[in-house]
Amino acid sequence: MSEIIAAIDEALGCHECGGPLDGSVDHDFCSEPCHRAWHGRRVGITPEPSLDEIAHDIRARLGAEHVEVPPERREEIGRALDAAQRHLPEDVFSTLQSIMEAALRVDAAIDDYEQRQQHSPH
Ligand SMILES: [Zn+2]
Repeated sequence: MSEIIAAIDEALGCHECGGPLDGSVDHDFCSEPCHRAWHGRRVGITPEPSLDEIAHDIRARLGAEHVEVPPERREEIGRALDAAQRHLPEDVFSTLQSIMEAALRVDAAIDDYEQRQQHSPH
């Protein structure tokens, strides 16, 4: 029975790129990057570095790359993350954490931008 399943998997190829599975230890993917890419899309997450890059990009566009997140905001998000950690599986939690941290940084950058707009001479 398991031989039949293996044969079907082999015929289907890599779940991500459709490539051959020759020499791959995995029955579903040709390589580790393909495995990660497929899994990442299934969970609906962007890998952490990309999220950081997006946050940085938005901050840079607003001219607020070096803005600090106010402590009260950090506390607020910290409490939300503590609650999330108690109820969510580890992988979901770490995704949520990186989203919230990126959002926090973007939020602070927008605040800073708006303040500068208000104080700028017309
Ligand atoms: Zn592949």
